[in-house]
Amino acid sequence: MIDRKRGFYDKGQETMPQEEREEFRLGNLREAVRHAYENAPAARKKMDEAGIKPADVRSVADLAKIPLTRKADLKSIQKTELPFGGLAAVPPRAMRRIYVSPGPTFDPEGREETHWRWEKAFVAAGFRPGDIVQNTFMYHFSPAGLMFDEALIRIGCIVIPAGVGNTEMQAQVMRDLSVTGYVGTPSFLLTILEKAREMGIGPGNGLMLQVALVAGEMLPESLRQRLREEFGIQVRQCYGTADVGSLGFECYEAKGMHIPDEIIMELLDPASENPVGPGEIGEVVVTLPNATYPLLRFATGDLSVYSTDPCPCGRTSARLLRIVGRIDQVTKVKGMFVHPEQVAQVEKKVPEVATLQLVITRVGHEDQMTIQAVLKEDASPSDALRDRISETTREVTRLRGDVAFVGESDLSEKEKKIVDKRKWE
Ligand SMILES: [Zn+2]
Repeated sequence: MIDRKRGFYDKGQETMPQEEREEFRLGNLREAVRHAYENAPAARKKMDEAGIKPADVRSVADLAKIPLTRKADLKSIQKTELPFGGLAAVPPRAMRRIYVSPGPTFDPEGREETHWRWEKAFVAAGFRPGDIVQNTFMYHFSPAGLMFDEALIRIGCIVIPAGVGNTEMQAQVMRDLSVTGYVGTPSFLLTILEKAREMGIGPGNGLMLQVALVAGEMLPESLRQRLREEFGIQVRQCYGTADVGSLGFECYEAKGMHIPDEIIMELLDPASENPVGPGEIGEVVVTLPNATYPLLRFATGDLSVYSTDPCPCGRTSARLLRIVGRIDQVTKVKGMFVHPEQVAQVEKKVPEVATLQLVITRVGHEDQMTIQAVLKEDASPSDALRDRISETTREVTRLRGDVAFVGESDLSEKEKKIVDKRKWE
């Protein structure tokens, strides 16, 4: 039996003691800033305008002096001087590939050994040399297919560049080539396996699949469990973007996604842009020590929560516990950002509550927040419960609101956790 539980791509780096990790991070940070300043004109311009030199950035806290570069702005930045708007540190003729993501935005791939850095993710997920891996990510225009493909080859796997679609052929290939690994979205994996079952292929009957690394959409725990119990597959997830590659991956423990050692990640409060603490929601902002595309403080627009608790796997990096949504889902109330995930947190903390919905209105020049609470059948409204809901909401969102007990049918736009009824005239 192959051990798919414990394994490292770079054990020394992944398990380094905290003090050493800090040193390593600072080295990478300073190098990223210096390299970007000296070679990427857009980074230099941004730093010059902010009045800072590379020597002024000595710590992660110093990074705050450099304004964010927002993912949403990439297209317009690139347009100022195609193809990369001065963000790349080498000219296109020195690159390896150029990808086209929806927008369009252009994603460079450099000639360095690993541009997207997915090797650690595969090993942590249980992939081993000799695995025959079906890669169902798209291979044209977008980097998804090739960035996983190359990491697999680098760790000694054999890749079937399957791409998207063709469910029946995917199932047939999975059997005929004794595929042991899968990369793609979790929903497509289930689609293939269900088709395979229809074709009489399953565990013990032509299906050799043992391990899967999934990305691109949420992996519900119920689906992970189903894939394990019905099909015997160890499924782990990872998170990244076409711009910056790997930003997080689960280990065997599956208790959050380890942040790759080599990047510098900040989680920032969407309102203040100050770093948030463990357990608090913040936007994922990345500084990348990459020779070709050294992005400084690249704001992904993704919201996440992190933990620094030790992981039993031995990796010493912090973990992203989950991706909670996009920054464009947040609503600003009284100058504070509120996210649907926070409302869900309040729901969990008050057991009598079935559903909560925040309704934001404007009275004169002031925002008003009403917390509409639908109670579970066996709960009844009381002043004490009202206070508890109000207090818990304040703890989680830092906002005060009036609690109204309502029936399920009183909720407008039921699927929304936050309803913004303000009119801006
Ligand atoms: Zn771990």
